[in-house]
Amino acid sequence: MRALLFFILIFIVFLLVHRLIKKKPTKPVQTASDPKPMVACHYCGVHLPEEDALKDPQVAERYYCSKSHQDLAKKPS
Ligand SMILES: [Zn+2]
Repeated sequence: MRALLFFILIFIVFLLVHRLIKKKPTKPVQTASDPKPMVACHYCGVHLPEEDALKDPQVAERYYCSKSHQDLAKKPS
């Protein structure tokens, strides 16, 4: 009976150790630690990262999501 309890105890310790070892190498999840500045398209209002947006050469702080929207916004309506 004692031997059985001993083996159960060893088994539990093994499981705990195994769980601890398994937990350790977790990759840090890429969170929004470096948020990119977002801008809105002047034509359609869609938000996109500033680095992907097209900047208006004439008007500062005015961005477009695509070349076509830049052209459409410039067109006199
Ligand atoms: Zn747009």
